[in-house]
Amino acid sequence: MGKDTVHFKCHHCGHCCRDVICLPTPWDVIRLVRETGKNPYEFLEFITPDQISEVAKSDPTWLLCGGKRYMMALRRFEHGCCFLHPKTLHCAAYDARPLLCRLYPFDLHETRAGEFKSFTLHSNVGCPRHRDALVPTAPLYDLYLTDRDHQEDYMDLVGVFNRSRARDKQICDFIAMFIAGIARPK
Ligand code: SF4
Ligand code: SF4
Repeated sequence: MGKDTVHFKCHHCGHCCRDVICLPTPWDVIRLVRETGKNPYEFLEFITPDQISEVAKSDPTWLLCGGKRYMMALRRFEHGCCFLHPKTLHCAAYDARPLLCRLYPFDLHETRAGEFKSFTLHSNVGCPRHRDALVPTAPLYDLYLTDRDHQEDYMDLVGVFNRSRARDKQICDFIAMFIAGIARPK
């Protein structure tokens, strides 16, 4: 069970877009900009450790600026993610949504040698985990591998940003490291 397919069907309860903070990679941001035409300075925010206590202090994607730590996240409004329609609960960026959104609520299992074993459903992410359909695991694993590569690129970029000693460094400058030619709103 879980090797070729996993029992799951999303019932669009909205929890993952309403209650969970989405952490995109720079590659996700580039895709969102390209496919939605939206300004990344408007749909991203940089949150502090007190806003996302579940991310460990040792996580390599913490950005350091002005003596504080920040994590890049999709901006959130009162009803949840900025791309979530408050009434229909549809994602306005569905075809361009971050890989994390596509992998939720699936949990990868690998062998000790790091080879694919199966997918199950995460038990602790708040999804009601309806099981009335079958999802093939091969596309999920491809997504996972792509996301893993993107996370490595992300860590490299964060390292460059964190090592920068520019005196006027601001946290939004991180966006300019991978998106050029879009003005920051005043
Ligand atoms: S980008 Fe779309 S799928 Fe992802 S959290 Fe936001 S509304 Fe939900
Ligand atoms: S929490 Fe689960 S059922 Fe609810 S919208 Fe997200 S994936 Fe679908």
